[in-house]
Amino acid sequence: MISTNDHAACSGCSLCLLVCPMWRHSRDIALSAHGYAKALQHGASANDIAAELWSCTLCGACDPVCPEQINVTGMILDLRRRLEHVGSTTVRARMESEALRPLAIQHATVKLLPDQALLESPELLSRIAALLGIPVAEDDGADIALAVEAGIIIQPQRMQRFLASWRGLKKIIIADGLLLKHLRQLLPAMNFVSLGEALSTHAVVRRSLRATDLYVIEPRAYHADFHRLVKHYDRLRAESGSAFNLDLQRIAIPATSRSLPQRLGLIAPDDNEQARWVLHGRRISRIVVESLEDRAAFEKITDIRVVHLAELAEDKVCGK
Ligand code: SF4
Ligand code: SF4
Repeated sequence: MISTNDHAACSGCSLCLLVCPMWRHSRDIALSAHGYAKALQHGASANDIAAELWSCTLCGACDPVCPEQINVTGMILDLRRRLEHVGSTTVRARMESEALRPLAIQHATVKLLPDQALLESPELLSRIAALLGIPVAEDDGADIALAVEAGIIIQPQRMQRFLASWRGLKKIIIADGLLLKHLRQLLPAMNFVSLGEALSTHAVVRRSLRATDLYVIEPRAYHADFHRLVKHYDRLRAESGSAFNLDLQRIAIPATSRSLPQRLGLIAPDDNEQARWVLHGRRISRIVVESLEDRAAFEKITDIRVVHLAELAEDKVCGK
């Protein structure tokens, strides 16, 4: 269950700093859950800390480490809803046009909802769909994912169309960790699974992992379902012998430090230092990622081969 504790509960212990990519990048306490909570305790409004709020990557690493059980990402999204929104015109226009698109019938009980990066990599998307044996949803909800992240209210007609496209579904596999968390809260009875969990449960993928791999967990979906997924990845770690991007508290260290303005291309991303930190001191021969954003970050800073989970089986066949 998600805690309802807010900024008032913050004791200032600073544990959240240790896992925060924003803080690692800046060494500025204002850019951390601690900084937000203390500013709010001293009477700051959302507008007063707007720049800091837009810097947050929503990786969710601070949620499970907070001893006061503050729902930090929930607090940040709530504050973003009170701000002038980043990219709001584009996102609203996308939602309006999606709401009007005629609904195509898809007969399936399980569907895949890709994220924006996968939509831009159709070959990998087809490979994932073939590996899992499921269709890609005709309504991917990528505009809704952006609206959730930006704190923009989702238009009711748009939500109706999105949900209407789910008729007959028993399970939905979702690539965007933040959308997954939002939908779980909205529809607790529906069976939502992250793409990382779905692929890492696949027997072929599991068999293809090696002891010399670094397996990089996508942090948003993982931290949103931390207590259950810790066990899933513990089993995978024991079975494969691979290294993981986990710290001692089994928090997933994010490989990127990308904020929404950076994701939207309004500011150039600068993930190099964070990706280097994840690789620091490791002796590995391959990096296996769940997210294409992580792949792009690693490929910029290392010559070590980087593969997506869905490409592992082919790697094994080719002996790479
Ligand atoms: S969600 Fe991630 S980036 Fe944002 S405050 Fe928490 S740890 Fe830092
Ligand atoms: S971990 Fe929680 S209680 Fe500690 S400083 Fe961060 S937000 Fe405050």
